[in-house]
Amino acid sequence: MSTKRCYYETLEVDRNADETKLKAAFRKLAMKWHPDRNPGDATSEVKFKEINEAYEVLKDNDKRAAYDRYGHAAFEQGMGGGGPGFGAGFASSFSDIFEDLFGMAGQRRSGGRERGADLRYNMEITLEEAYLGKTAQIEIPVSVTCESCSGTGAKAGTKPKTCSMCGGAGRIRQAQGFFTLERTCPGCQGRGQMIEDACPSCSGSGRVTRERTLSVNIPQGVEDGTRIRLAGEGEAGVRGGPSGDLYIFLSLTQHAFFQRDGADLHCRVPISMVTAALGGEFDVPTIDKGKTKVKVPAGTQSGRRFRIASKGMPVLRSRQTGDMYVQVVVETPQNLTKKQQELLTEFEKLSSGATQPEAVGFFSKVKDFFGTRTGT
Ligand SMILES: [Zn+2]
Ligand SMILES: [Zn+2]
Repeated sequence: MSTKRCYYETLEVDRNADETKLKAAFRKLAMKWHPDRNPGDATSEVKFKEINEAYEVLKDNDKRAAYDRYGHAAFEQGMGGGGPGFGAGFASSFSDIFEDLFGMAGQRRSGGRERGADLRYNMEITLEEAYLGKTAQIEIPVSVTCESCSGTGAKAGTKPKTCSMCGGAGRIRQAQGFFTLERTCPGCQGRGQMIEDACPSCSGSGRVTRERTLSVNIPQGVEDGTRIRLAGEGEAGVRGGPSGDLYIFLSLTQHAFFQRDGADLHCRVPISMVTAALGGEFDVPTIDKGKTKVKVPAGTQSGRRFRIASKGMPVLRSRQTGDMYVQVVVETPQNLTKKQQELLTEFEKLSSGATQPEAVGFFSKVKDFFGTRTGT
């Protein structure tokens, strides 16, 4: 899958090409590589398929956004299995393109077959789940092929009849002056067949709604907005058409302790003024439910970040792992006792500028500033 060409390269457009440009590029290339124009040439067939696939993705704003973000990985089936890139939907998009380009509407649409709709399922997962990956069971209402009639829509024991108006073509031709117009057959709505006795289970639609339990594999390292495609798990096609796909849209819940930035994790840890001044060590929880020691050197300033290598998130479909960053925030003590106040006052008296590097820099800047403004 990783050897796939970039969709933009395939269509010979640049990444910010708009819809019009995309369509023009697609038309040009599809015309050039169409198998009918290159009979018996296997390369052109492959090219034509690539062009179609790229266009299918890029013409759809959602798919294009997902592709821009995740590349081909956005459309590969979860993990392990790795379904064929665009297996299920291909036949139908192929025919749409065919119609679009060559005005051959209807000829490829045998018996009113239609591809089933794609389904979207929103799933929320925690950061820990994204870290570990998981297998989730989901229940989705999907319309599936009716078993009673095997999707034909005709009552058991009967068969759909060839439409008498169009003779099964699904289209009828009408002469109008010099022209012959072709349109969808009103008798069968383009299916080419008529159902006299509708199947009682599905009222003739050929599909019924079922709750299906699906097991979805969430790979390690998924991010907010990651989309997982389960090919062929969408709605059943109409009258034997291919099923649509199921897309799982993942969103991550906010974590109480960690903020995620790509593969890196960030957290803030308060430390006392004394620890910051004298140095010390403390434990910080890690995303793998363990903990790690952070060593703070003497004289640590508030806001300083410490990097802990490889304690971040796994990178989707790779062996890499991000890092964890611990930012210390020095806390100013409150509600001091009299004794503490005295000690701090004493401390202040003993302090020279050298103990406060920031302040020294700051006050010298202030001095320069006022010096130049009033300096006449
Ligand atoms: Zn039925
Ligand atoms: Zn008809």
